[in-house]
Amino acid sequence: MAATSHHNVLIVGGGTAGITVASSLQRRQGSRGLGIAVIEPRDTHYYQPALTLVGAGVCTLSKTRRDEAQLIPDGVSWIRDSAAKFDPDNNLVSLAGGDTLTYDYLVVCTGLVLDWDKIEGARESLGANGVCSNYDPRYTQYSWEVLQSLGPDSKALFTQAPLPFKCPGAPQKMAYLSADYLRKQGIGGCDLHFLTHAPGMFAVPLFAKELVKVAARHNINVHFQHNLVAIDGPNRRATFEVAGGDKEGERVEMEFDMLHATPPQSPPEAIRSSPLANDSGYVELDQASMRHTRYSNVFGLGDAGSTPNSKTAAAVRKQSPVVVRNLLKVVDGAPLEDSYDGYASCPLTTAYGKVLMAEFCYGGKVTPTFPLDPRKERWSYWWIKATGLPFFYWHYMLKGREWFLQHNTDFIDPTL
Ligand SMILES: Cc1cc2nc3c(=O)[nH]c(=O)nc-3n(C[C@H](O)[C@H](O)[C@H](O)COP(=O)(O)OP(=O)(O)OC[C@H]3O[C@@H](n4cnc5c(N)ncnc54)[C@H](O)[C@@H]3O)c2cc1C
Repeated sequence: MAATSHHNVLIVGGGTAGITVASSLQRRQGSRGLGIAVIEPRDTHYYQPALTLVGAGVCTLSKTRRDEAQLIPDGVSWIRDSAAKFDPDNNLVSLAGGDTLTYDYLVVCTGLVLDWDKIEGARESLGANGVCSNYDPRYTQYSWEVLQSLGPDSKALFTQAPLPFKCPGAPQKMAYLSADYLRKQGIGGCDLHFLTHAPGMFAVPLFAKELVKVAARHNINVHFQHNLVAIDGPNRRATFEVAGGDKEGERVEMEFDMLHATPPQSPPEAIRSSPLANDSGYVELDQASMRHTRYSNVFGLGDAGSTPNSKTAAAVRKQSPVVVRNLLKVVDGAPLEDSYDGYASCPLTTAYGKVLMAEFCYGGKVTPTFPLDPRKERWSYWWIKATGLPFFYWHYMLKGREWFLQHNTDFIDPTL
C-alpha cells in the first residue's frame, strides 16, 4: 500500500552531487536536527571520471565502482526508488513505486540520462562489431578490447555529441589515448578520425589552441560540425549529419573498425516534465547561489542543473559547499551567499602519462589552481587525474569534506 512520509531535507539523486551534499549537510548542520533522505534507485555508484582510464586499459572497471549502501552517510535515510513526479507548490515528490514524500527543503541532482535512442541503431550495435563507449559502464571495458584489436590498416572513429553532455573533454581524451596506445605498440598507418558536433575543439580558446596541436601530433583527422546519427554495427558503417556551414543537413557515411561513440544526454524525463525545469528541461537555478529561481526552498546542482558551467564532477566539488551553506542559511532565515563562479575542470589526457589541466569559470575564464602555465601537458597532472583525484573523491569529497585549494581567478590569459 502506498505510504507518505516527511523529511526535512530530501535529496533527489545519490550520485556524485547527492552523496557529497548529504555528507556535507550531515557534518555541518550542527544542532539543527534536520532529517535527511536521499532518493536513489541504483545500488551501484561509479566514479565516472575514471571510465576514460578503463577504456584505455589503465584502470579496471571494478576500481571505479562502489556499493551505494557504503556511500550513504550515517544517519541519512536511503530511499531506494526513483522520483517520478515533482509538485513543488505542495512540497511533494511522488516515487515510481507509488509512495509520496513531503519535504521542507529539496535538493535536486539527478544527473543526465544517456539518450542512445537518438542515434539510430546504437542500442543494437553497442558492445559488438567494434562499437564501444566509455560513457556507458556496460561498454567501457569493450573500448579497451577493441583498441587492442586494431592493426596497421584499421580505421577508428571517435565521436562527440551535441553539448551539453558530461565532461566535454572525454570524447577527445579517448582519441588521444588510443592514438598514443597504437604508437607505443608500433602500429603505424591506422586511420584515426575525431568527429564532433561542435565548431571547435573546446569551448575555451586557450585550451582549444593546444588541443588542435595535440590532435595534429597524433595524426588524428578532425571533422567539426559532424553529428553521429546512425550506426550499422554488422556492416561497420556510421552515418554523420553535417551540423553547420554550406553542407548543413548533408549526410556522410564512414566505415570503421572501432567506433567510440558519445551519446547525446539530457535530464531524466521526471525533471524535464516537472515545474522545476526551464525551457530546455534543466532544473532552473540561480547560477551563483544554486537556489531554484522560483521555489525558495529548492536547490539543485550537478549535471541536471541549468547553470552554464561545464558538466563535471569538479564543478560539483565547488557547487556542493555553496548549496549546503545556502540551504542552512535558508533554514536559519539568513541572507544567501552568491559564491559559485562556474568553476569546472577537465583533465585532458593527451597521452599516457600526460594531462592538460583545463580549469575555467563562467564565460570561459581560465582559472588554474596551481601557479603553472595551463597550456602545458604535464606528468604531475596525470598523477592527479589517475591517483590523486580518485583518492580525494572517495575519501574526502563523498565524505563531505571541502577542497582547500582555491583556483586563481586573477589569471591573465596570455593568448588574449
Ligand atoms: C566518461 C566520463 C568521463 C568523465 N570525466 C570527468 C573528469 O575527468 N572530470 C570531471 O570532473 N568529471 C568527469 N565526468 C563527469 C562527472 O562524472 C559528472 O559531471 C558528475 O558525476 C555529475 O554528478 P551528478 O551527481 O550531477 O550526476 P551523477 O553522478 O550521474 O548522479 C546522478 C544520480 O541521480 C540518479 N537519478 C536519476 N534519475 C533519478 C530519479 N528520477 N530519482 C532519483 N534518482 C535519480 C542516478 O541514478 C544517479 O545515481 C565524466 C563523466 C563520464 C561519463
